[in-house]
Amino acid sequence: MTESMKALVKDEGRLSIRAVPVPVVGQDSDVLVRVEMAGLCRTDIYVAEDVFKTSSPLVLGHEFSGFVEGAGDDAAGRFKVGDRVTINPLLQCGCCSSCRIGQTMACQDGDFLGIDKDGCFAGWIKVPVDAVYVIPDSMSLECAAFSEPVAASLAVFKAGIGTEEKGLILGGNRFSRLLESIMRFRGYENLTVAAPEEVEDLEASSYDYVIETKVFPGLIDAMIHAVRPGGKIILKSRDFRPVSFMPYTAIKKEPVLHIVNYGSFEDALEILASGALGISDLIEGFYDLDEYPSVFERSRSDESLKPLFAPWRS
Ligand SMILES: [Zn+2]
Ligand SMILES: [Zn+2]
Repeated sequence: MTESMKALVKDEGRLSIRAVPVPVVGQDSDVLVRVEMAGLCRTDIYVAEDVFKTSSPLVLGHEFSGFVEGAGDDAAGRFKVGDRVTINPLLQCGCCSSCRIGQTMACQDGDFLGIDKDGCFAGWIKVPVDAVYVIPDSMSLECAAFSEPVAASLAVFKAGIGTEEKGLILGGNRFSRLLESIMRFRGYENLTVAAPEEVEDLEASSYDYVIETKVFPGLIDAMIHAVRPGGKIILKSRDFRPVSFMPYTAIKKEPVLHIVNYGSFEDALEILASGALGISDLIEGFYDLDEYPSVFERSRSDESLKPLFAPWRS
């Protein structure tokens, strides 16, 4: 194996492609993964724009799949070289109140790959053994790279919505398309998807629940407009901008607010393995890491599809 690799690195707020050392596993419980497919997420754009405070220098990226190429002494036996895997980028701390009751996807102190620790926009990455999941032979590596956004989508079910209820997803982006296909797969057929600018045209007070997938000015007011009295407002996106709303209008409806983060990572893999989500229709294209300037730029203005990098092949 070569000793250096190409990586997309943020340093002092600036992005560049660098040659950095390939991580080494030793007497630890880490696994070395060769990164085959890595998806670009809105979170990565925010990291690139330096609106998320991150460690520095930092390799970006957190949605990915690849092959196991090595394991530390304490991880040996759990994986073998050549295993096809995907990674949960939320690295559990193991000791917060959520982790102690087994709710590791609600970990309050965990590191996130591509924010707190080096991410996957590099030829190889070293990750803790508990973050690694073997994927079925039938699942493509590009499909497996969607494991994190699928787990994030599954969070909406924590709001206790019913399949018979009338739902609205505010979106018009790749996340809302992924969420819609997951919800339809689970039997939520009474579903409308609308772009923010279409909200005013929707029938007021007629939805049992409204799900947000991107923050925009007037977001909460738009959700209040659409939801029925006593209905559910579900915030999903991981944004950094504050949202404001008019309490006078909202209070009359007494809506229930849910702010949700992740569902189960295992459930995400099970749904992906079903092949029912039409993942290939959500992929914009495949790119070398060197093409990051144009790929990031396009993704800033058009979130309809997801670009995938092929870091090891770059
Ligand atoms: Zn993501
Ligand atoms: Zn924790």
